Amino acid sequence: MMSLKIPDRFMNDELAEEMFGNVLFVRDQIAQHHKWFENSLPMIASENLISPLAREMLISDFCDRYAEGLPGARYYQGNIYVDRVELKAIELAKKLFKCEHADVRPTSGTVANLAVLFAFTKPGDQITVPNVSDGAHISSAKFGAVGVRGVTGIPYPFNVKDMCIDVDGAAKVIRETKPKLALFGMSVFLFPAPLKELRPVLDEVGAIVWYDAAHVLGLIAGGKFQDPLREGAHVMTASTHKTLPGPQHGIILANPKDEKMKNKLTYAVFPGVTSNHHLHAMASLCISLAEHIVFGKEYADQIVRNAKALGQAMHELGFDVLCAHKGFTESHTLAVDVSKIGGGTVCVEAMEKANIIANKNLLPWDDVNAALNPSGIRLGVQELTRIGMRESEMKEVAYLLKKICIDKKDPEEVKKEVIALKSGFKTIKYCFAEDVEAYKHYKLL
Ligand SMILES: *Cc1c(COP(=O)(O)O)cnc(C)c1O
Repeated sequence: MMSLKIPDRFMNDELAEEMFGNVLFVRDQIAQHHKWFENSLPMIASENLISPLAREMLISDFCDRYAEGLPGARYYQGNIYVDRVELKAIELAKKLFKCEHADVRPTSGTVANLAVLFAFTKPGDQITVPNVSDGAHISSAKFGAVGVRGVTGIPYPFNVKDMCIDVDGAAKVIRETKPKLALFGMSVFLFPAPLKELRPVLDEVGAIVWYDAAHVLGLIAGGKFQDPLREGAHVMTASTHKTLPGPQHGIILANPKDEKMKNKLTYAVFPGVTSNHHLHAMASLCISLAEHIVFGKEYADQIVRNAKALGQAMHELGFDVLCAHKGFTESHTLAVDVSKIGGGTVCVEAMEKANIIANKNLLPWDDVNAALNPSGIRLGVQELTRIGMRESEMKEVAYLLKKICIDKKDPEEVKKEVIALKSGFKTIKYCFAEDVEAYKHYKLL
């Protein structure tokens, strides 16, 4: 226990007392947040729980240190152990993703994306991208990383019925644009991108094929989604904290065409878009990678089973889950049209009151100006799967969602059922320390 008090020499100092009050305020907010999430069903598709062993690294001394450059060629002393951990993380990333090049330094998925843009484009270039209104991430848009680099993103046409890129339309756009760089990957990522189908056209124009795997990285590693680096992608970027249940960080994985391409990627990360690379998160990632090599297959398998089961159960209970004709999803994510039951905002706000946390989402046919009350909600099952929930719990979750969103029951009443369901799921699975109570690690010192 650390002593929570103002040092004697600042006793009766008004400013010290006020600021100490602020410290206590923040600690109290965190404590309340922990209690809330301990009793909630978090279903934001981009979040997850890291394992107890990975979490431990985040408060290690690595969080206080600097390392710039590459292992063995640093600009700072003191990196003996940092270098060993970084080399291990690179080794495990290459093993897990079966690739020649791995960079564990990007501090987030967006930073990894900036590095790829920096490496392979110049301001004024045109690249091809999935459209934000169809579910792409903000970093592939002109008001995100793509725009920051000063390149123009030409969007692929999208088949809204099947929620995937229209292959013939995309082939035409690629032939016309002749992009240096062609980006695939989305944030509402229900079905694989047509890499195999578009590969001949991409080869024809000589594009560097870039796959943003932020959402589906853990599924790819577990062999449960497409395998981009085998299907034609040269470089894959990702966040490491969505379906890969690691720390908030980024990664670049690649099979570069040649040494020049590899060097461009390396120098785009540093000195390009990072300096220090959050060594504690890098160490934590190393542990997450080791765990995913062992547990990733069964975890990814259960995620996809759960997503399909939740989609089916919600569909049967009257929800308009997108893509019923093709099994709702092949990932961890479901998209649901809730326009007839109050819209996205009404639904997610009621859900939040009942301790089910998710986000509202634009659907492809929504007006972009409807961002504040879009037709859709996006649900992810990766975190519920992580705490051990299976198909039968997905049915229970579907019932709870029906009570809230369709039957319009009092969320405060439904909340009691949510808390009861959650009480049976307090440990993190698919990791080495499966017996540790999840929220034990959240307790303050
Ligand atoms: C989440 C996401 C990112 C980047 O996220 P960070 O928050 O920067 O890690 C990039 N691309 C896609 C498709 C995403 O969904």
